[in-house]
Amino acid sequence: MCFPALAKGSLEGVKIFIDPGHGGPDPGAVGPSGLHEADVNLRVSRVLANCLREYSGATVVMSRTDNVDVSLGERVTAANNWGADRFISVHHNASVNRDYNATETYVYYYADRTAIDMQENVHRRLVEGLGLRDGQARTAGFYVLRYTSMPAILTEASYISNPYEEARLKDMGYTWREGYYIYLGIADHFGVAP
Ligand SMILES: [Zn+2]
Repeated sequence: MCFPALAKGSLEGVKIFIDPGHGGPDPGAVGPSGLHEADVNLRVSRVLANCLREYSGATVVMSRTDNVDVSLGERVTAANNWGADRFISVHHNASVNRDYNATETYVYYYADRTAIDMQENVHRRLVEGLGLRDGQARTAGFYVLRYTSMPAILTEASYISNPYEEARLKDMGYTWREGYYIYLGIADHFGVAP
C-alpha cells in the first residue's frame, strides 16, 4: 500500500539496500511496555521497500525480512557485494530520560556529498512529517555507515524509550507514515519527487 507519489519507473535500475536494525536475539532498544525496536525497524523498512518498488520501480534488497539474527558484517557485505547504489539503515533511539523524543539521522564522519544530500532530504521529510523535535542531521562512526562502500544513512526517527512515542510506534498507520516519509526523502534526493 502506497500513494503514487512518484512517476512509476522513475528509479528504474537504482539499487537500494534497506537495513532494518537488530533482529533475532538482539531486540535493539526496548520500550517501557516492552515493544522491541527490531520489530518497529522491520515494519518501517517493509513500508519503505514497498513504496520504492511499487511507485518508483527501484530494485530493493533488505538485510532481513523477518525477525532473524544478521551480523553487522553480514549486512555490510550483502550491500557491498550486491553493488547497492544507496544504503539506508532504519533504527529507533532510546534514552534514560523517558521524556526525551526527537528525530535524528546519521551519516559517517567522512561521508561524501551524495550521502549528506540523501541525509538532509530524508531528515527534512521525517521532521516535517512526524512533527517531533529536530534532533539534527548528525555524523557518527556506526559500523554500517563506516564499512559500506556506497552512500549510506542511518535513521533514528524517534525515541522508543518515550512512553507516548512507544504507543504511537505500535500503531501501523504511524509506522506506515514514517516509512513513507523516508521514501519521500529518497525521492527528493534523486530529484524525482512529485
Ligand atoms: Zn538500533
